[in-house]
Amino acid sequence: MNVGLFGGTFDPIHNGHIALARAAQERFRLDRIYFVPANVPPHKQRQPLMPYIHRYAMVVLATMGHKAFLPSLLEAPAATLAETGPGKGRQTARVHAEPNYSIDTVRRLKHFLKKSDRLFFLIGIDAFDEIAKWHQAEALFHECEFVVASRPGYSLADVANALPPSLRPSEAVTKPFAKQPAKGDLVLKAATVHLLDNLHQAISATAIREAIAAKRSLKKFVDPKVEAYIKKLGLDYG
Ligand code: ATP
Repeated sequence: MNVGLFGGTFDPIHNGHIALARAAQERFRLDRIYFVPANVPPHKQRQPLMPYIHRYAMVVLATMGHKAFLPSLLEAPAATLAETGPGKGRQTARVHAEPNYSIDTVRRLKHFLKKSDRLFFLIGIDAFDEIAKWHQAEALFHECEFVVASRPGYSLADVANALPPSLRPSEAVTKPFAKQPAKGDLVLKAATVHLLDNLHQAISATAIREAIAAKRSLKKFVDPKVEAYIKKLGLDYG
């Protein structure tokens, strides 16, 4: 079985996320993709976030029409109810909640998979650019293959240079990559990175939060069920 793992803050989940997952599913014939909202994204610990339960609910709604897309509680907080509280606004993560490291999530998921299953870690190139700083980044490349949604302006050398130092090919190898756009596959001894090009949509959750705060329509950016949920619950992104 081919399995995808797609982690994110999903605050909120949008059409750019779905496009990435669809393209990965098609190209690698993924039997299922787990969408994993992080309770405490390690790189956004100081940023106010919508409570986990609302972000998870929106992931459920956005993935409902896709048979192979599964909402996952792999990074759910221990006490989801207490987390939500009575408010409808964004909150900073509770101080004692531990950050969700992808390496732990991947290992937890692999516990339920067979040895013969292939696991693909789905990610956008902006996030991949920072991957060398992630907790146990090398180990993550050892555990799964990467599928990166690239975008114009990035070269294959940028992708290779984003790898953790010990996995990076030598400069002599990457030099010719500088003129090649970030597409195709980068298969190295200790890392496999597949690139998906031509799918990046100019959508970000940041822009959507601004649109919500300004009471603009979200029609072009999110599933109608997600927009309805935001309105119905009165989620406050102001
Ligand atoms: P924010 O604007 O709040 O930083 P975001 O839109 O980047 O959020 P995340 O939930 O942080 O959304 O992203 C989850 C994953 O989806 C990351 O790997 C990110 O790179 C990727 N991603 C986000 N937007 C797009 C997009 N428009 N196209 C392809 N990948 C995307």
